[in-house]
Amino acid sequence: MRITVLGCSGSVSGPDSPASGYLVSAPGTAPLVLDFGPGVLGALQRHVDPAEVAVFLTHLHADHCLDLPGLLVWRRYHPAPPTGRALLYGPSDTATRVGTASAEAADDFDDITDTMDVRTWTEHEPVVFGGVTLTPVRVNHPPESYGVRIVDADGRVLVYTGDTGMCDAVVELARGADVLLSEASWTHSPDRPEGIHLSGTEAGQVAARAGVGQLLLTHIPPWTSREDVIAEAKEQYAGPVHAVTAGETFTV
Ligand SMILES: [Zn+2]
Ligand SMILES: [Zn+2]
Repeated sequence: MRITVLGCSGSVSGPDSPASGYLVSAPGTAPLVLDFGPGVLGALQRHVDPAEVAVFLTHLHADHCLDLPGLLVWRRYHPAPPTGRALLYGPSDTATRVGTASAEAADDFDDITDTMDVRTWTEHEPVVFGGVTLTPVRVNHPPESYGVRIVDADGRVLVYTGDTGMCDAVVELARGADVLLSEASWTHSPDRPEGIHLSGTEAGQVAARAGVGQLLLTHIPPWTSREDVIAEAKEQYAGPVHAVTAGETFTV
């Protein structure tokens, strides 16, 4: 299984990266995209035909889903429109929230179900998609938010935290993963609010407690020092640590 970083800038787009989006490819599996934040549709076009992807959303904050109205336009108005609908997994309100973002007037609503086969995550219930299985687990973030554990046909494991504050659930989610793609949105300063994001220190603690093979840091906002976040994680976790950049590809 391979993961390509379409966008990794935390909370907002950055000067060198779209907001959150990750392309996952595996043998016998259509390309899938984890999160679809601003700028992801453009980056996606460098790698695959956007009409071919399924989308899996961790949560409905703008930085994780707001390029989906663009994907609707692509599928509806492309000169050679795709047949069939795109699979879209997400939290409970996915169709409503994306439909509202795509509406033409304040009291309007775009029914996206002509274009998207929208399905709702059920916590701990595996979703089999081609040769991979995705299992969502609720994490510690204000809206309905999931981390996702992805296992391929060879048993290789990729875990993506989505956005989360520190919690036991994210450690269990990451248990024994070959690659942990973990958010690390801020440094470990004492004035951090609870239950929103991980610091570099906490991302390193999750990786160490879960015994993962490799830690990839992501979702670092433009206003946060990458170097400080990396250094914090390395203090807690002895394995390989890398902060991802847009366009990088990793084999899991
Ligand atoms: Zn975010
Ligand atoms: Zn969020």
